[in-house]
Amino acid sequence: EHADVVDLVQSDTWIRRSRSHQTVSPEAADIARVLFSADDIYRRVCELAREISADLAGKQVVVLGVATGAFVFLADLVRELSLPVQIGIIHAQSYYGSSTESAGRVNVSFDRLKVDISAKHVLLVEDIIDTGRTLQKLLTEMVAASPTLFPKPPASISVCALLDKQARRVKPLPRLIGSGKLYAGYDCEDVFVVGYGLDFDERYRSLPFIGVLKSDVFLHSAE
Ligand code: 5GP
Repeated sequence: EHADVVDLVQSDTWIRRSRSHQTVSPEAADIARVLFSADDIYRRVCELAREISADLAGKQVVVLGVATGAFVFLADLVRELSLPVQIGIIHAQSYYGSSTESAGRVNVSFDRLKVDISAKHVLLVEDIIDTGRTLQKLLTEMVAASPTLFPKPPASISVCALLDKQARRVKPLPRLIGSGKLYAGYDCEDVFVVGYGLDFDERYRSLPFIGVLKSDVFLHSAE
């Protein structure tokens, strides 16, 4: 029975990826330049998933997506992992001075997390690492959450970010816990990007690629 399922999955041609019958969202008209196409991203997600699956094989893994931006990446990544995983969502909110500049304060909440991360191997899934503040806060709070919220700290914490804007870092990446590792999809130039989960004022998240907004859209709405 199991072999049938494996055959079926292996012959699956990912019909959801053939978009020839679909039209793209009108939001695409606001994009000046595509940095990473849907196909590029899919290929990279598969490579990341292969590496993560090899590193975490045989371990009890909890994948934690950081809402809202990571939801598309989280969904694609977990479906390419060849591991049983538990999945949870944590909420991190950076307070923005404007729509695009983080004001430097980050609020993290585990309130709606139903999975226990005690002694588990945690993989934090982030859309983008920019200044590094969110990641630092997340790691600190996750360790501090034990024993109040979770009986024990995680066995390890790894981070998988689709994009890494290394040029913007104000906080050095914190030391990862245990055997934790950083997986980064792409190094990203220092521009404000949208699509594939990333927003500008809560728009553009559903675009299947990552791109840069036309400057008139960007400047006009930021007023
Ligand atoms: P950090 O705390 O590292 O400065 O920023 C992390 C968060 O800022 C990300 O999770 C993301 O929500 C937001 N962010 C940073 N750069 C960009 C960007 O270029 N585009 C969008 N849409 N959000 C960004």
